[in-house]
Amino acid sequence: MEEIVEKNKCTGCTACMNICPKHAISMVEDEEGFKHPVIDQDKCIDCGLCKKTCPVLNTVSNKSFNKCYVAYNKDKKSTLIKASSGNIFELVAKHILNENGIVIGAAFDNDNKLKHIAIADIKDLNKLKGSKYLQSDLNNIFSYIKENINVKKILFVGVPCQVAGLKAYLKKDYDNLITIDLVCHGVPSPKLFAKYIKELEIENNAKVINYNFRDKVSGWDTYSNTITFKNKHITELHNNNKYMKLFLTDIALRESCYDCNFKTGNKYSDITLGDFWGVKKYYPDMYNKNGVSAIIINTEKGNNIFNIIKDNTIYKECKLEEIISGNPSLKISGKCPSKRNEFFKELDTCDINNLTKKYIKKRSLYKRILNKGKRIIKKIINKG
Ligand SMILES: Cc1cc2nc3c(=O)[nH]c(=O)nc-3n(C[C@H](O)[C@H](O)[C@H](O)COP(=O)(O)OP(=O)(O)OC[C@H]3O[C@@H](n4cnc5c(N)ncnc54)[C@H](O)[C@@H]3O)c2cc1C
Ligand code: SF4
Ligand code: SF4
Repeated sequence: MEEIVEKNKCTGCTACMNICPKHAISMVEDEEGFKHPVIDQDKCIDCGLCKKTCPVLNTVSNKSFNKCYVAYNKDKKSTLIKASSGNIFELVAKHILNENGIVIGAAFDNDNKLKHIAIADIKDLNKLKGSKYLQSDLNNIFSYIKENINVKKILFVGVPCQVAGLKAYLKKDYDNLITIDLVCHGVPSPKLFAKYIKELEIENNAKVINYNFRDKVSGWDTYSNTITFKNKHITELHNNNKYMKLFLTDIALRESCYDCNFKTGNKYSDITLGDFWGVKKYYPDMYNKNGVSAIIINTEKGNNIFNIIKDNTIYKECKLEEIISGNPSLKISGKCPSKRNEFFKELDTCDINNLTKKYIKKRSLYKRILNKGKRIIKKIINKG
């Protein structure tokens, strides 16, 4: 077999690699920094299992339950501050760990490479907390889940295509498995992030020892990026940070993210988590400057988990349309910028400063004046 699915549709979910009975598939990084399956023709027996499993080619369905909440963890402010949104992930994770289970999510290693890891100790929970805006490497985590799922409760957290990949690989539901997917804007290239970190380290002559994409020092809705070096840290509002600008203009996303197969409403997880960006409009009394979550319950299992954790939250039931209105990523894929290919061709030769200058359009003077005017009027109204 030559190719499982067209390259621009492959999400890199690893289901094909894990299912292959001959271990003929490996995930290999392409020139943009995204991993894709490569088949060793000498080992392949043409059984077709990879094609029958791939979640892009086959529908993985869930019974839709669809209860929605606006909520945040009512625990101490300090725990809320370390999470990206309303810290709902931590409540579910603690429940699983207290039941002697395993929690799997994305964590940076010592070289700032993002990988899915399994933890069994509450002391390690901070490694998983917080959104990291690049694609996480799943490695062999699906096989690990299959090996342990009959003896342990497992919570798996990932972007929707990762959860769909896991479900496609496992082929059946397990009582012990709880899955959470995240509302997903798309995943930028790990190669871009590695380049950005390397340039920061050269510029500051020190190693980056921690990267927080969602620092709430200036609030949840005006979040910052904080980069910690051995001897100092830098904090920048997300819309002033070069890496975040590249992420949010969609130029560095995986190709599959521009026509995402997993925004169809056919949810694969038990619970979907995101930011409730429309909270001020729909539920101003629920606004919390340290973060508010949107929760979508997709299954009976997800509903049971929410019933267990809900007393540790401040919550209100809400409508799905209210979540979607502030969060178009739930339904719509990012648009592929016309210069995306040019951008990736220059990734190896051009530094981040110049990439940002060249590929991020400056807002026109007219728009900048208009926005400033709007901000001033808002301030006057609020004072009055
Ligand atoms: C790439 C990406 C894009 C997102 N886009 C949106 C969006 O457009 N709109 C929106 O409302 N929300 C988005 N989110 C989700 C949001 O940022 C929060 O992760 C979510 O609301 C959960 O917050 P929390 O406070 O409950 O938990 P947190 O403590 O923030 O927990 C986050 C969980 O996500 C996992 N995780 C972190 N980074 C990754 C990653 N790169 N890949 C897979 N899993 C990861 C962690 O392991 C942890 O389990 C995105 C998240 C990611 C990672
Ligand atoms: S199973 Fe996943 S990694 Fe394999 S081809 Fe399909 S989308 Fe790509
Ligand atoms: S946008 Fe879709 S394809 Fe891209 S990472 Fe998110 S779920 Fe996967």
